[in-house]
Amino acid sequence: MTDAVAECNIKVLCRFRPLNQAEILRGDKFLPSFQGDDTVIIAGKSYAFDRVFPTNTTQEQVYNTCAKQIVKDVLGGYNGTIFAYGQTSSGKTHTMEGNLHDPQQMGIIPRIAEDIFNHIFSMDENLEFHIKVSYFEIYMEKIRDLLDVTKTNLSVHEDKNRVPYVKGCTERFVSSPEEVMDVIDEGKSNRHVAVTNMNEHSSRSHSIFLINIKQEHVETEQKLCGKLYLVDLAGSEKVSKTGAAGAVLDEAKNINKSLSSLGNVISALAEGTKTHVPYRDSKMTRILQDSLGGNCRTTMFICCSPSSYNDAETKSTLMFGQRAK
Ligand code: ADP
Ligand code: MG
Repeated sequence: MTDAVAECNIKVLCRFRPLNQAEILRGDKFLPSFQGDDTVIIAGKSYAFDRVFPTNTTQEQVYNTCAKQIVKDVLGGYNGTIFAYGQTSSGKTHTMEGNLHDPQQMGIIPRIAEDIFNHIFSMDENLEFHIKVSYFEIYMEKIRDLLDVTKTNLSVHEDKNRVPYVKGCTERFVSSPEEVMDVIDEGKSNRHVAVTNMNEHSSRSHSIFLINIKQEHVETEQKLCGKLYLVDLAGSEKVSKTGAAGAVLDEAKNINKSLSSLGNVISALAEGTKTHVPYRDSKMTRILQDSLGGNCRTTMFICCSPSSYNDAETKSTLMFGQRAK
């Protein structure tokens, strides 16, 4: 990435997945054409981002280009957020998580876990690290702890420094990448509890993995804290396409509301001139408040399908990404 990109604290990266088997069999067209490393053209219109990843980009390339630096920054005491936005099946979970136990197909979260511990082992021996993780989801503005299924409706509080946090959410101390992976596996299997259709559920809820890093120098007692939110957002598809009614419609509106409030916060931050950033409009933006914009490292992945079938959703996803610029 260029220096100009490195200086900006909100980065927007766009990733296109390949056509899948069903789309190929149906005869869907492959819409995007890629120009340089930051522009995609669809139906004659070009969209520029900090970076555009064409379909053949590997998980490792994605990680090295955009997440590696964030790990260094968080260890340097900064907060950060990486999130994935896009319609269901556009590659959000593939990007954030991928296959946790396959070194090639691992996504950003397991790579971050490995990187954190690699850095720590090479740092000053006089530094003592305390790393804890939490894993929760937000569904219909309710926060459910994925590490304790009895906690289904947690609330957002502020600590004495007015930093928002999810009160009562389980925190697990971890001391190796393997332990992080175990926590993710545990959370994922809990996510299935009390859910009738997991595909539907995961497309309608936001899942949030939090890594909190505290370090203390054993002699000087100097402390440094950083935290990183890793967010796999609910599907951004419009309600009308699914012909939803009643409770399902309420649910869809609710999701669109929290996604649009996220969009409003990001665009207010990107503009930099607005004095009012509407953090309080949704639980998610409240929680992320001290990890978005300002001195924080914010990276947004805009995940897209290349298929002509998803034309309209892809355009609306690209527009969402453009608002953050
Ligand atoms: P989402 O989380 O946005 O609903 P997924 O990440 O589950 O979508 O992706 C849907 C399917 O497409 C999965 O089977 C996933 O493995 C595959 N996929 C997504 N992105 C890519 C990619 N960049 N390369 C190869 N396969 C991908
Ligand atoms: Mg998903």
